[in-house]
Parts: sequence; structure tokens; C-alpha cells
Amino acid sequence: MTNKYKYFIANWKMFGGVKSVNLLNKVIKFSKLRKFKYARIIYCPPYTLLHDFVLKTKKNTINIGAQNCHHSEIDGPFTGFINSKMIKKIGCKYVIIGHSENRLTGENDVLLNRKIKSSLRNKLKIIFCIGETYNQKKNNMTKKILRKQILHGLKNIKNINNILFAYEPVWSIGSGIIPKLKDLKNNIIYIKGLLKKNFKLKNSQVLYGGSVSPNNIKELKKINEIDGFLVGGASQNPNKFIDIIKKTFN
Ligand code: PGA
Repeated sequence: MTNKYKYFIANWKMFGGVKSVNLLNKVIKFSKLRKFKYARIIYCPPYTLLHDFVLKTKKNTINIGAQNCHHSEIDGPFTGFINSKMIKKIGCKYVIIGHSENRLTGENDVLLNRKIKSSLRNKLKIIFCIGETYNQKKNNMTKKILRKQILHGLKNIKNINNILFAYEPVWSIGSGIIPKLKDLKNNIIYIKGLLKKNFKLKNSQVLYGGSVSPNNIKELKKINEIDGFLVGGASQNPNKFIDIIKKTFN
């Protein structure tokens, strides 16, 4: 069974200034169209803009998420960090955990597991990113890597209903290259099967991320098993982001 809701997550990474909140106007208007009522839109701007974005989306269906969080939910001497409790308190509903750009800085499965646990305790929904590097793909290690990232990242977590999964092959992020549809479908089905078998999650939500754009969305949406998209670069332009959503449903 495919899920009727599709997620569209705007990952702004380290972009955006005080005026960026105005870019939401168009998307807010768009989100009210009945025709697209099954689109769940989530914006993940940098920390500095989270509160503005939360205020701006109070009266509409768009939700806001942070791009990462510290693993400790107890306030403490952690210079430069923000924890899941703080993120929840300012009105965010989501947090991205395990993005490959953060894994690259040394975030490992054990640390990510702690971040997920602390975020779940603070009632945040999680967008958990997984995906293989180019070398791992070349060496036929994709499934092994996905399995490791999921089983270690979710170790000792019983209820994973509040976790969305974003399959993002590292080599497709920001490169303009998307996987072959056959491989992509295969990997999404593999992830869903793994979640069903190991966590009894029958109806998992697995998104795809990596160079999603208005130019390739018609291809990507052919894969019914994909429950939405995590969009980086293209999400900074509201016209492109709206176009991606429109083309998914048309
Ligand atoms: P991209 O980024 O769409 O710019 O490839 C996706 C991501 O990193 O989440």
C-alpha cells in the first residue's frame, strides 16, 4: 500500500538571512489549495531563522524543523550547540538527523542513536537520513550500509512511528545526478522491508533526497513506493519548490 500523503522537506542548509522568511509567502498561499491537500510541507531553515519561520507558519499547515541537534537534552556547557528540548520549545515539529554532511564531520551511528532518542523524548518527529557513498555503491555495499545505518541508528528504540526516513545517496546530493530508477526503487523497497521485519513498522514513510528538481521529479514520482522528497538546492527557490510539488501530484 502506498501512503496518500507525500512529504516535501526543504533543507536550506547554511543559506538564508533575515529577509528569507518572505520567501514563504508564495508557498503558504500554495499550501492552501485543496488540490494539493495531501502535500505535507516542512521547512528546515538554519537555526537563526527557526523562530521567524515558526511564527510565520502558525496559522497554516506548513511545519518547521531544525537541521540537526545536540545529543544531550539536558542544558549544559556545549558551546555552539542546540538541543532537541530547545527546538521543541520554540515550536518546531521536526528535526533532521544523520544528514551525510554531518556524518562526514564525524557523527557516527552511536551518536545519531542518542540524538534520535533525545528527540523522540522531546516529542519531535525525526527525518533520519541514510545513504551510501559513491565508493560504497561501486563496491556493491549499498544494502549493507543501509542496514547498518538503520539497525545501529535505531538500536534499542521500540517505537519508530515518529521517524521519517530519507534515503539520500551521498553521491547524488548536490551533483545533479539521480540514481537509476530501478536501483532507487529497489533500495526504497529494501529499506521498507527492513523496517517491517526489524521494527514491525508496516507503513513506513521513506523519502528520497539528492538533486531533486523540477526537471527530474516526473521521473522520480514514477516510483510509487517513495513517500516524498527531501529537497536541498531547489527548495531555496519557492517557484522551483512549488513546481516540484505540483508535478508530483499532476
Ligand atoms: P540537494 O540536497 O537537493 O541540493 O542535492 C539534498 C540534501 O542534501 O538533503
